[in-house]
Amino acid sequence: MINQAALALGTKRNTIMELADYGRSRAAIVGKENVFDFSIGNPSIPAPELVQSTLLDILQNMDPITVHGYTSTMGDPKVRAIVAQDLCERFGCDSKAEEILLCCGAAPEVAAACKALTTEGAEILVFAPYFPEYKPYVEQAGAIFRIVPADIPDFQINFSALEELICPNTTAVIVNNPNNPVGAVYSEATIQKLSALLERKSEEFGHRIYIIADEPYRELVYGDAKVPFIPNIYPHTVVCYSYSKSLSLPGERLGYIYVPSAAENGRDLYHAILGAARAMGHVCAPSLMQLMLSRCAHLHPDLSVYDRNRRTLMEALTSYGYEMAKPEGAFYLFLKAPSGDDRAFSAMAMEKDVLLMPGSDFGCPGYLRLCYCVSYDTVVRSLPLFEELIKE
Ligand code: PLP
Repeated sequence: MINQAALALGTKRNTIMELADYGRSRAAIVGKENVFDFSIGNPSIPAPELVQSTLLDILQNMDPITVHGYTSTMGDPKVRAIVAQDLCERFGCDSKAEEILLCCGAAPEVAAACKALTTEGAEILVFAPYFPEYKPYVEQAGAIFRIVPADIPDFQINFSALEELICPNTTAVIVNNPNNPVGAVYSEATIQKLSALLERKSEEFGHRIYIIADEPYRELVYGDAKVPFIPNIYPHTVVCYSYSKSLSLPGERLGYIYVPSAAENGRDLYHAILGAARAMGHVCAPSLMQLMLSRCAHLHPDLSVYDRNRRTLMEALTSYGYEMAKPEGAFYLFLKAPSGDDRAFSAMAMEKDVLLMPGSDFGCPGYLRLCYCVSYDTVVRSLPLFEELIKE
């Protein structure tokens, strides 16, 4: 007997991965340079020089048994202390090593946090447009996946819809800031308002509603935009961080969970997440990457390449008549589908080998996601095609 839910998930794959696979197959036929693949958020800038040199140094000079061995399930205590110290310096919090759990990226972290916060009948809320993998994470945990409709055109939080959907079964809300697929940054005022609402509802329902803060793009912000550090506003928060985007290491699988002790039942929540991760097969984050992190946790990404792509696309697409949400973070533009039909427009673009994800896959029909973590040359050569598309 085969688990039918698992079969369905494996058969109808992640649509982003499917479109990216299609891009690779087209590249093999028409040449890589002729495919304008804006489908997937794979960083297009290399990992910082210090990351490369540190990895080489570790491999050449450290004991291979240590480098490739297991660490503690929570991660090497010294590395956890460095991560905690880095958080204190960046955000003025008082995080400690024992509140940090080194993990294999934001995906398993969010999945483990969902599991740890799922009790009988639990509901977990997400804000549209949302990262589509949240649905399988929430449902594998056994919780009900509830979508708060988008706040159009600002792409902050639709508070009136949230008030209607939040209920005594709600155990957590997932907040992704900066947001994939919009590139919007939830402001300090938005997070303050969310915090006040969750305080009020937790009181009313007689149990704590937690925030799961999914933050792989925390360092990727442009101009004056500021990403509020949610635990400083609402301590009942599980931070799920990843180095996939900030250090351009998505294939290396490294991130951390931070559960402040100030969160209600914070220590139990930390251990429940550890238990959930264990049940999902977590053993430890890659040892080589942990060792690298002990010397590179302070690094910030160089955003100049993404920023140039962002500004070039914004300017050109706006001049052709496209409308988009204000992109302040991550590396995504969220375009209004000119025809109103995102799937039809995405299919039309595909005919020209321009790959854009329909907003419907993120719970927001009528929009298209464009990942601008591509080469500048790809951006520039794609512009005439965008102009043709809107005319058509
Ligand atoms: N959450 C969001 C919003 C993402 O966009 C991604 C990846 O694109 C992930 C989680 C997964 O990231 P990771 O590579 O750290 O597992």
